Amino acid sequence: MSLAAPRLSDDRLKRYESLQAALDLIDQGFTLIDRELRFVAWNKTFLRLLDFPPEMGFVGAHFESFIRYNAQRGDYGDGDVAAHVEERVRAARNFEPHDLERTRPGGVVLRVRGVPVPGHGFVTLYSDISAQRNAERQIHEQTLLLESRVTERTTELRRSEAQMRLITDSIPALVAYFDHHQVYRYMNRGYREWFGLDPANPGVVSAKQYVGAATYAGIQPHLARALAGEAVSFEYETAVLGGAHVTARTTLIPEISADGTVAGCFELTFDISEQKRAHAMLVQAQKMEALGQLTGGLAHDFNNILTVILGNLDALARACGGDATVAEFVEPAAEAARRGADLIKGLLSFARKHPLEAQAADVAPLIASVGRMVRRSLPEGLQLDVAAGGAPLWAWIDTHQLQNALLNLILNARDATSAKGRIAVHASMHVLDSVEAAARQLEAGSYLRIDVSDNGSGMDDATQARVFEPFFTTKPHGLGTGLGMAMVYGFVKQSGGAIDIRSKVDQGTTVSLWLPACDIAIAPIGPMDGGPDAAQGDLGLALLVDDDPAVRQVVRRHLLDLGFVVIEAESGDEAMQILEQTPGIALLLTDVVMPGGVDGRVLAAHARERCGVQRVLLMSGYAPDGVAAAEPPLLAKPFTRTELASRIEAASP
Ligand code: ADP
Ligand code: MG
Repeated sequence: MSLAAPRLSDDRLKRYESLQAALDLIDQGFTLIDRELRFVAWNKTFLRLLDFPPEMGFVGAHFESFIRYNAQRGDYGDGDVAAHVEERVRAARNFEPHDLERTRPGGVVLRVRGVPVPGHGFVTLYSDISAQRNAERQIHEQTLLLESRVTERTTELRRSEAQMRLITDSIPALVAYFDHHQVYRYMNRGYREWFGLDPANPGVVSAKQYVGAATYAGIQPHLARALAGEAVSFEYETAVLGGAHVTARTTLIPEISADGTVAGCFELTFDISEQKRAHAMLVQAQKMEALGQLTGGLAHDFNNILTVILGNLDALARACGGDATVAEFVEPAAEAARRGADLIKGLLSFARKHPLEAQAADVAPLIASVGRMVRRSLPEGLQLDVAAGGAPLWAWIDTHQLQNALLNLILNARDATSAKGRIAVHASMHVLDSVEAAARQLEAGSYLRIDVSDNGSGMDDATQARVFEPFFTTKPHGLGTGLGMAMVYGFVKQSGGAIDIRSKVDQGTTVSLWLPACDIAIAPIGPMDGGPDAAQGDLGLALLVDDDPAVRQVVRRHLLDLGFVVIEAESGDEAMQILEQTPGIALLLTDVVMPGGVDGRVLAAHARERCGVQRVLLMSGYAPDGVAAAEPPLLAKPFTRTELASRIEAASP
């Protein structure tokens, strides 16, 4: 019983007991003490919360008895019990309102609030706030844990971002991410290298600015498709730092967010200039190869035809012994056939089938002499400067063909310039490293470079792409054959060199020939002087081998005229049999390429090594690859009797 209420009516007593029961059910403890600090009222919750034995609670119990009980059981920590009690009792006497928290030794946290109730004493309320404090503590701990995790993850992220940057920076490509407003969020070092941008501040970068409005206009449609959710790849030309132009291929991969919209795009850009150039070079080389095969085959057949025509005309003229009427018909026909043969020569050199007579030669005087020769045929006002350097320029070259090539280049320059134009021929030695050489499909090493430049009309890209094609000309009908550059191309390639062309419309053209240099000057082979009428009387037995009967007919006549007795074979196999069975053959004259197993070279080797044939001569409409400086000597079809005679003589032991 906690309320002191003597002598109450039944009714009031009942009410009083109900009130007390209700108070006991409240989960807050309460006490009411009078001015002498004696208990007036309290509830059971108070005793329970503070673990006081029930018998301690009675009307008039002194506040101090509770304090002492607490002090003795250590609720106030260590220290002198009397001092604890005294301090607290003194404070209580002040009747000051207070609100404090006390954690009991078992861990229960109590909130203790005291307020004076005027006329009644002092009420103190005790609430167990352990759960609340516990929850708060847990929240606090969770927060701390969360914070430390965030810190940890951030550090991790920073580290992986740094790693990521390191990786993307070392890729030889441009890597970036931009959002759907086209604001860059990330870019790698490539952007600094190409455009001088700062990857640390991607947000301020504008694609339109760094590629330029014109290029951007071309890129824009692709960008729009990417931002609509499509992965796209596209190529474009753009200027980069230092003014160079690169061909770039960009791939954009859209990032689709959970709601299906495009959040932004990943961007990957490569420099494909080199790849493009290599591809263009390959296409060009393949085109030239195909054209070469076509023209080579054609020219070969025409050569045989012309050999027949020229040979027969020659024989006809001889047979008619200087008859003027006959000569009147024969001469123009022979002249036309010779012109035809010249044309074929052009085609053959384009197809690289013209036998080259390469030798070590100092080309400096040769260039000078071409200059002198051509100057006469140039218009008055046209300036021609030839600078071949003071020192000798040794190259391994067919000098006759080189002369032809230079002539062709100078005449092209003349045709491209006005009467007041300027043409310069300049020759010098260069060493190409492996990169420079590879760009021209050459081996690294020393090269003689001959530039023929003019300040004439120049060429547009379409013309440049076709300039080496046989019969490609932009000149009026009758003025151009379209064979000049084709010949130069074939000759240079066959000589193991390369050609560069730099040309701009209205600014002029420079054609550079790169020709393999001779490291040491090998003594040049002197020109062969062929005494034409070497043969009188019986020169012995000649074996003539060619699969074309008309060619055999003409050449047989030449051989007979020269004084040979001729036996013929129409294939290598047949010739082989004859060689085996016929002793004393003085001359073998054989075509190189023939149907069947045995070709001219095999036959020649056999004749010389096994059958002791002293004079062996190959003849051919073209030089199969690798036989340029062939042994035994190679006679190019068509040929005259005089040429045949001199070559036979040269082939003599
Ligand atoms: P052609 O001289 O008979 O036309 P080429 O093979 O020598 O044949 O040249 C082919 C074409 O290349 C020429 O018609 C011309 O359009 C172009 N060309 C060659 N050299 C030059 C040059 N120096 N300047 C301008 N165009 C040139
Ligand atoms: Mg020409």
